[in-house]
Amino acid sequence: MTSQAYLLYKLQEIDLQILKLERRDKELIRILRDDSNLLAAQEALTKAQIALKPAETRHRDLSLQVKGVLDKRAATEERLYSGSITNPKELQDMQNEVAALGRRHAELENQLLEALIAVEEAQAAIQAAQTALDKLQAEREASHAAVKAEGRELRAQLKTLKEQRAAAIAPIDEQNLRIYDELKPQKNHQPVSRLVENSCSVCGIEQIATLVQAVKQGDKLVQCKNCQRILVVF
Ligand SMILES: [Zn+2]
Repeated sequence: MTSQAYLLYKLQEIDLQILKLERRDKELIRILRDDSNLLAAQEALTKAQIALKPAETRHRDLSLQVKGVLDKRAATEERLYSGSITNPKELQDMQNEVAALGRRHAELENQLLEALIAVEEAQAAIQAAQTALDKLQAEREASHAAVKAEGRELRAQLKTLKEQRAAAIAPIDEQNLRIYDELKPQKNHQPVSRLVENSCSVCGIEQIATLVQAVKQGDKLVQCKNCQRILVVF
């Protein structure tokens, strides 16, 4: 007849597998929920989009200023060459103004060019941020598909293991199962230990002869004198 200690040992094997799979399942859920990378990429895109606005506004303002200066110069030149003004002082003032407007125009054109470069840089930054986000989303979808597939496989294994567990428990005495359950949390999920060459294989302590004998007989549960784990030999 199979000893109770051996039955508990087989139960422990199943429980350790269940524990491993449940831990992995939690890890998979954490991976699926973790969207910190995606959030950071979205934030970067939003920041780049926000930065474009002032650059565009400055470019538009400068364009209007250029147009204003050009219009004013054209109007002044028209009057200057219309022949309607004959006063030399007034003509000189107007010529000076045309020249000043020309200088102002050149100055504004330089600023306009700088503003245009700033707009183009901001647009390029948006494009780069968008590309990074798209790439991340595609990678995430692919990796999530793999994680979800692993999760499905894992839960199917868990279902089988739990059926195996129910079957493994059936022939175990209630009293022995209680000892196992009590020891399990205290012994890092390993309440049963194999006796190898008369020593407990978990803590390594050699057991006295009478104890070794009792383990070998397998009539009742025998616990390691050092770590209290249930000893089994096979
Ligand atoms: Zn021990």
